[in-house]
Amino acid sequence: MIDIHTLPVALTIVLVGWSSWRFAASQAELQQERRIWLQGCLCIAGGLVLEAQPLLHWRWLDAVSMAGLLGGYQQFALVLSRLQQQRSHYLPGVLLLLLTTLMNTPWQPVSVAESWNTVALALVYARLSWLHWQIERAIRQGYPILTTLYGLGMLAFLARLSLHVLGLQDPALLDLVEPLLYLLASTATIYGSFGFLMVILRRRTQRLVRETLQDGLTGVLNRRGLDEALLQLQQGMPLYPCVAIAMLDVDHFKQVNDRYGHAAGDEVLRQLARFFRQSLRAQDVFARYGGEEFCVLMPGAALADAQRKLDQLRAAFATQALLAEAPDLRCTFSAGLVCWDEVEVNPEKLLHQADDLLYAAKRAGRNCIMVADPRGD
Ligand code: GH3
Ligand code: MG
Ligand code: MG
Repeated sequence: MIDIHTLPVALTIVLVGWSSWRFAASQAELQQERRIWLQGCLCIAGGLVLEAQPLLHWRWLDAVSMAGLLGGYQQFALVLSRLQQQRSHYLPGVLLLLLTTLMNTPWQPVSVAESWNTVALALVYARLSWLHWQIERAIRQGYPILTTLYGLGMLAFLARLSLHVLGLQDPALLDLVEPLLYLLASTATIYGSFGFLMVILRRRTQRLVRETLQDGLTGVLNRRGLDEALLQLQQGMPLYPCVAIAMLDVDHFKQVNDRYGHAAGDEVLRQLARFFRQSLRAQDVFARYGGEEFCVLMPGAALADAQRKLDQLRAAFATQALLAEAPDLRCTFSAGLVCWDEVEVNPEKLLHQADDLLYAAKRAGRNCIMVADPRGD
C-alpha cells in the first residue's frame, strides 16, 4: 500500500501551485516566477509520491525522489529571493543536488544516505526559513508563521540527525521524532506552497486599491485618492502647521476640444498632470478633481511660499508646447489658494473656499491666482 498520508500533501501542493500559476497569469512581472513555482510544486509532489510508493525498492528511485524534493524546495527559494530582488546563486543549490543524488546511489550505505538526506533537507529548510523571515518582516503582517514552521522543521531534521549520529535508535525516541518531523515538514510544505499564492493575491489587491485611487487618463490621484490624502494629512496634522490647498482649472478648455478634438484635449490634460508631477515636491499631492479641474496640496508650505511656487508654475505652464500636431497651442490655468492650518477645520470647506477663489480668478480675467485672506475673512 502507498503511504496514504503523503497523497493529500502532494495533491494540495500541486493544486496550490496550479492555482498560483493561473492567478499570476495577469501579472506580467511574475511570469517567470509563476513558472518556477509550479515546477517546484510538481518536483516536490513527485518526490513525495515516489518516496511513498510501495512497489519498487530501487535505490535509484530514492535518488530521484530526493532530487525532486530538494530541487522543488530550491525552486521555492529561488522565487522567494527573486521576489525580494536578491541575486540568485545557483552553484550551492546545484552542488547540494548533485551530492545528494550521489549519496543516494546504490553504492552508498543506506545509513549514510539517510543521514545525508537529513542534513540536506535541514539546510534547505534553514534557507527557506531565512527567506520567509525577510519577507514576513518586510510586510509586518502578524506572526511570522512560515519562518517558524520551516525553522521548527529544520530543528526536527537536526534532532533526527543527532539520533542517527549518536546511534540512539531507541524506538520510543524515534516514535516521538518521526511523527513530529512528518507533521512539521508537511505543514510547512503545504502552507509554504500557499506563500506564493498569497503574494500574488496581495499584489493584485494592492493594484486594485491603487487603481481605485488613480485617475485613468492622467495617472494622478482621482477624487477618492484626494480624499484619502486629505485624511492622511489630517491624521498627521500636527506635523504641518499649514497645508496649502489650491484648486485649479484649465482656461477655455472647451475651445481646445472644439478646435483640436477630444483626444487632443485629453493629451493636454495628461501634459498638465506630467508638468505638475515633475515640478512639485515629493510630499506634495496632485489630484484630478474632475473634468479639467485639479487640486494641489502642499504640506508645510506657508501661504506666501505656496503662492510664489504656484505662480511660477502658472507662468511656466503658459509657455509649454502641449501638442505635437498644434505646436502653437498654449494653455493657461487659473487657481484659488487657501491655507489649511487648523485641525478642526473641515477640508471639504476649504476645497469649496478654494473653488470660490478659483471662480473669482476666472472672473478677474483668467491665467491668475486668487489667494485667501490669511485672516480668513
Ligand atoms: P473656463 O475658462 O471658464 O474654465 O472655460 P472652459 O471652457 O475651460 O470651461 P467649461 O467648464 O465650459 O468646459 C470644460 C470642458 O472640459 C467641457 C468638457 O467637455 C471638457 N472636459 C471635461 N473632462 C474632459 C476630459 O476628460 N477630456 C476632454 N478632452 N475634455 C474634457
Ligand atoms: Mg476650464
Ligand atoms: Mg471646469
